[in-house]
Amino acid sequence: MFESLQERLGDVFDKLRRRGALSEEDVSAALREVRIALLEADVALPVVKDFVEGVREKAIGQEVLRSVTPGQMVIKIVNDHLVETLGSEHSALNLTTTPPTVIMMVGLQGSGKTTSCAKIAMRLTGKEKQKVLMASLDVRRPAAQEQLRVLGEQALVKTLNIVPGEQPVAIAKRALQSGALEGYDVVMLDTAGRLAIDEELMAEVAAVRDATKPHETLLVADAMTGQDAVNVASAFQEKLGITGIMLTRVDGDARGGAALSMRAVTGCPIKLLGSGEKLDALEDFHPDRIASRILGMGDVVSLVEKAAETIDQEDAEKLAKKMQKGKFDLDDLASQLKQMQKMGGLSSLMNMLPGMNKAQMAKMQNAKLDDSLVKRQLAMLSSMTPKERAKPELIKASRKVRIAGGSGTTVQEINKLLKQYQEANRMMKKVKKMGKKGLMRQGMS
Ligand code: GDP
Repeated sequence: MFESLQERLGDVFDKLRRRGALSEEDVSAALREVRIALLEADVALPVVKDFVEGVREKAIGQEVLRSVTPGQMVIKIVNDHLVETLGSEHSALNLTTTPPTVIMMVGLQGSGKTTSCAKIAMRLTGKEKQKVLMASLDVRRPAAQEQLRVLGEQALVKTLNIVPGEQPVAIAKRALQSGALEGYDVVMLDTAGRLAIDEELMAEVAAVRDATKPHETLLVADAMTGQDAVNVASAFQEKLGITGIMLTRVDGDARGGAALSMRAVTGCPIKLLGSGEKLDALEDFHPDRIASRILGMGDVVSLVEKAAETIDQEDAEKLAKKMQKGKFDLDDLASQLKQMQKMGGLSSLMNMLPGMNKAQMAKMQNAKLDDSLVKRQLAMLSSMTPKERAKPELIKASRKVRIAGGSGTTVQEINKLLKQYQEANRMMKKVKKMGKKGLMRQGMS
């Protein structure tokens, strides 16, 4: 699921990340591409519109423009919005404390309803140690009841004995009675499917619902059918009232539009995913994990979160001001190195610095700043006098020997550090040349 969407969004974000400063036009252009990507993934149009507008509002506002990492901030906003669209939190099945819990499975014929019923029952019986009884109410499709019995045997789950000629409401009542008498924790009712939304069958399911008052009415929908699945879900929601959705065949759907639209259109949470024909191909639906799967960049999201925690906005602004003036001394280098230590790695910090492009980053990375090196460099810097840090050109041969002695390093290492500082300083001057405009765009002037 989501492969094509992932690819499209990956391209959009790659472009964004390569830029230091972002203008409103940059954000708009990126959002146009996000919109196309979502539409191609078969996400319902109203959902796409809401989504893009929501992201735009946040992105154009202070959040991005004041951020030290505009490109990544946009990605984080898209991610957060995606999680919201998908339903924010993972919703588990409603299991009551006063058993038996009644779970009614509804959906179109062929959506994978009976298989999903057995999958859930197997999980509840196994991992969650619940005593589960399944009953098929499908008296229309020949052999439907037998199918559930066979699946029950495979899943080691009890099924209600079949009484030929018995009608759905009567079967359901008998299942509930057995459930209560025999101490079952959960009773699962597999209702009859239909090829399309059909009034008569809908009335039948409504009658079962009224007779059994299910705690969970789980709609099973086939993700491969995209928008149709969303329409089916809306119809069921409207006519019957559903409490959750299980999306099946996510193993076969490369677009994932159904998953993205479902929650927004029905207001009902997706609770489970069916990812294969086997009975153990059942997954919980976690909006945050799905979102990072779609964006293929959970790392970036946590990185931005980490940056927000560790990079002090004031410090960043101070640094930006210095950069703007082309003033960058060894104290700044020291505070940068300290932040780098907190952040865990040069490359992540470099990504966060405004005005940094890929080539410059690669160059800095070649300098191979690892943890122990950073420690040594900080030792050298703290062995310098404040005057030396403010005016690095004071550091001549004799001072170098003193600093090396004080920090337990060598003169060669001091030279390397000073060279690195000069390099960084050159870069800051370049950023200065980029002009006030570039910095203003980020709200840092
Ligand atoms: P029902 O008519 O809604 O009860 O559908 P069934 O449970 O009989 O399933 C129809 C077909 O879909 C069967 O061949 C199942 O093995 C298959 N199926 C069900 N769920 C999944 C799934 O998550 N992935 C895949 N690939 N196939 C599934």
